[in-house]
Amino acid sequence: TPRMRIAPSPTGEPHVGTAYTALFNWLLARHLGGTFILRIEDTDATRSTREYEGNVLDALKWTGLTWAEGPDVGGDYGPYRQSERKHLYGEHVEALLDKGHAFKCFCSAERLEKMRADQRAKNEPPRYDGHCLGLSAEEVSAKEAAGETPVVRMKVPAEGTCRFTDWVYGEVEIPWTSVDMQVVMKADGMPTYHVANVVDDHLMKITHVARGEEWVSSTPKHILLYEYLGWDVPEFIHLPLMRNADKSKLSKRKNPTSISYYSALGFLPEALMNFLGLLFIQIDEGEELLDMDGLAEAFDPHTLSKSGAVFDLQKLEWLNGRWLREKLSEEEYLHRVLAWAGERDRLKQGLALAQSRIGKLSDLPDLVSFLLKSEAGVTPESFDGMKKITRANALDVLKAVQPALDALPDWTTEAIEAELRRLSEEDMGKKLRLVVPPLFVAVSGSARSLPLFDSMALLGRAVTRQRLKAAIA
Ligand code: ATP
Ligand code: GLU
Repeated sequence: TPRMRIAPSPTGEPHVGTAYTALFNWLLARHLGGTFILRIEDTDATRSTREYEGNVLDALKWTGLTWAEGPDVGGDYGPYRQSERKHLYGEHVEALLDKGHAFKCFCSAERLEKMRADQRAKNEPPRYDGHCLGLSAEEVSAKEAAGETPVVRMKVPAEGTCRFTDWVYGEVEIPWTSVDMQVVMKADGMPTYHVANVVDDHLMKITHVARGEEWVSSTPKHILLYEYLGWDVPEFIHLPLMRNADKSKLSKRKNPTSISYYSALGFLPEALMNFLGLLFIQIDEGEELLDMDGLAEAFDPHTLSKSGAVFDLQKLEWLNGRWLREKLSEEEYLHRVLAWAGERDRLKQGLALAQSRIGKLSDLPDLVSFLLKSEAGVTPESFDGMKKITRANALDVLKAVQPALDALPDWTTEAIEAELRRLSEEDMGKKLRLVVPPLFVAVSGSARSLPLFDSMALLGRAVTRQRLKAAIA
């Protein structure tokens, strides 16, 4: 039977692009009568965390998608987390070495850096120059005996063209000279994405690889690995990336891309999936309001277009409004509203935090509304009137804090407080009380508000991030 997968890397907030690609794979599985599975690609141990993995699983569950196999539900081809499959990759990298399809590379970081700098100077694409290709078995053994730890690189043909058929892009041709001799195993024995991805897609019997367009240029390496290992090559479907109206790529640097952001703002999962699904199907005006069954019925993988996956927020809002007004019974609607306000217990905890700040209960709505609103409504004037802090100071603080919080592994009151203390004292050489007020304003719209660290924790990472970015912009 046909088998498809979504293979997220748990290295950050769960991305709407992951929901988009997952939905496509789910629709294709429905269309072909196949199986949709989930695999966690956490070979990058420095960037992957269990917290992010939990977030991506929760976010995908929130979308309403279901998978037949995965780290949470098990299955016949597990484990479904790459960090638990290390032995399998080692074995296949050995096979590549034995067959002469890969080689050990001892080049130092300095040598590689110099090589890349030379290539940049000559306007050539960055590419390994083959320095270690010619090492004899004796030279390799001698280096290893002397304690040098190599990486393993795959060989790439010196000439000719890689050709493959993509369901979206048609016949793709990429000259081998533009394909890098990719590292397949790092010096610490961890595989890289490329080899882990190919080994797992083979062992998990994946027949169709549908993923973002940014992987097209990696596909020749993957095809080579399948061939080197004597395995069938799957079908490839590279999905056009979602774009802003100005054609720029929807990206976390520019846009709110976290699924959590959209759920925190009160978009219904049905509306988000409806919206993402419309990017894959042709439908007449007036027929747009579709649930998953409706999307599956209209889905035809033969009419995919390579242009126009525009992430049109207004259209999402329009669809969401229609879902709220037309598709939910009053009972279901109320249920959703309460579940939304209760997400992460934010309303209850916000009301509790407000206790020390109120004179009468009717002060509460003003105090807690920022926890539920879509934005804080900050203007440049919002930063006026703080003691000993100018607008320019405030902006400097926000610019320093935003990326640091982005990189914070845990999103809890304590972790946020500790990081802000460290930042202000060590990095900025300022008292915490000069750092906190601008953050209050950016996050809540007002300098008089609920305790900051708790508020940020209640708002969640994705919404806090967007508010800080909005205040800086
Ligand atoms: P950056 O801001 O660094 O460009 P990003 O937004 O591209 O980041 P990544 O962390 O590189 O985010 O990607 C996370 C996942 O989301 C990947 O699986 C990627 O394929 C997917 N993805 C990222 N951007 C898009 C997009 N515009 N359309 C569809 N999928 C995307
Ligand atoms: N882990 C990769 C990602 O996050 C998967 C790419 C693929 O599907 O091959 O995009």
